[in-house]
Amino acid sequence: MPGPDEPARVLLLGDPVGHSLSAVFQNAAFQSAGIRARYEALRVPPPELASAIASIRSDERVLGANVTIPHKLTVGAHLDQLEASATSVGAVNTISRDGDRLLGHNTDRVGFARSLGEAGVGQVGVALVLGAGGAAAAVAAELKTRAGEVLVAARTAAGAHAVCELVGLDHSRPIAFDDVDRVLADRDLGVDLVVNATPIGLDGAGIPLDPSGLRRGQTVVDLVYRPVWTPLLQAARHHGAAAVNGLGMLLYQGAASFEIWTRTAAPLKVMRAALEGAAGGPVHGGGPIPR
Ligand code: NAP
Repeated sequence: MPGPDEPARVLLLGDPVGHSLSAVFQNAAFQSAGIRARYEALRVPPPELASAIASIRSDERVLGANVTIPHKLTVGAHLDQLEASATSVGAVNTISRDGDRLLGHNTDRVGFARSLGEAGVGQVGVALVLGAGGAAAAVAAELKTRAGEVLVAARTAAGAHAVCELVGLDHSRPIAFDDVDRVLADRDLGVDLVVNATPIGLDGAGIPLDPSGLRRGQTVVDLVYRPVWTPLLQAARHHGAAAVNGLGMLLYQGAASFEIWTRTAAPLKVMRAALEGAAGGPVHGGGPIPR
């Protein structure tokens, strides 16, 4: 453990990391819980991932880390053990230590699940997931238990297929990204839930689908949380669908990671207030978007 004068550290490993809001609400949580620790973002390009992990392993002051783009699918190979939360998703977003052993976890899935719960989304018939990266994998693993059928749209057939394997090929189907608009417009198929797990919308302008296919009765979740109300969520509201932003997933995955590192209950109210202040909008689970 760190000496009495040295605060412990928790790192965010990614590239880029400048957009992250995690430091704001994790540091608020450490302070509120009286834990002398500091959360710091560290830009780690892919060729430097192995050495970054090695230096965490050898530095007991580091309690653990979060892992973000582009390392979630590859970091597991550098760790000593993967917990079930990570193997069920095939991606790691949280690292904890046990002595000099590093353990990989995934809290994105539970974050997505709690965000859906807060939005009042339970079981759905047909879900459409856009993207095939680490976030899509966490979403798909959760939808395995919640959706009758999961359609996964990606730019490569292999990517979509890999995510479908997490759901189970018996009730999932890979589709081409170019087919999204046709699938969404198909009333007989009746997509109930749309989840954007691509970065489209991060620029505040892009939208991953033709919004005219959105309608009342659907729920649209955008994992992109900057801007808080993406063009996709604005379009969902316009067409009468329920809109759920990405802050809820961010909050709850962060709370679960905090509990792994500190074995202390996460101060959720404090974390939520800090996150909302930094994001400039509310953690929102459905209903109309505040104007
Ligand atoms: P990732 O591993 O890089 O995956 C991104 C996926 O999006 C890939 O399948 C990629 O396709 C696809 N994609 C990128 N640009 C595209 C485009 N123009 N058209 C179609 N597909 C495109 O990233 P990730 O970790 O899954 O994260 C995805 C998004 O979710 C990011 O914006 C991230 O910030 C957000 N996220 C939010 C939370 C939260 O708590 N709210 C948690 C995790 C992630 P290719 O493989 O073909 O490149």
